Amino acid sequence: MRVGIGYDSHRFVKGRPLILGGITIPHPRGLAGHSDADAVAHALIDAILGAAAAGNIGQLFPDSDPRWKDADSMELLRTAHELVRGRGLALVQADLTVIIEQPRLGPHLAPMAAALAERLGVSPGAISVKAKTNEGMGFLGRGEGIAVIAVASLEAR
Ligand code: MG
Repeated sequence: MRVGIGYDSHRFVKGRPLILGGITIPHPRGLAGHSDADAVAHALIDAILGAAAAGNIGQLFPDSDPRWKDADSMELLRTAHELVRGRGLALVQADLTVIIEQPRLGPHLAPMAAALAERLGVSPGAISVKAKTNEGMGFLGRGEGIAVIAVASLEAR
């Protein structure tokens, strides 16, 4: 059994959709980024790559590469999982915490977990997505952006 941790943060901007875990969430602002800025998918990619000691998202999908402009991060997630599967490892389960002041993600957590599980080819019960505020403190509390922490475990297959 191998365990990896991933972290990502993105700044809120006007004029982009808010996409988290492959789900488009109604909100006046989205997240800045080279890809679709899906911080949930990005943190999980780093957790999966980390568990395999296979580098990080920036090495696999550099933001200097026009191929990843506005990329579907759920597809990048699938690709990262394929990479570790090619090394004889497979995702067992993952747990994520999204730190976000607004909007409240309660109704979107189950659809996000289901979308992640579907894209990774694991059972829905293998993926946990939670959300919390930062109690008004710091850049997260001021709603300047969001952060996501992910932990993933892999096993040899
Ligand atoms: Mg990112």
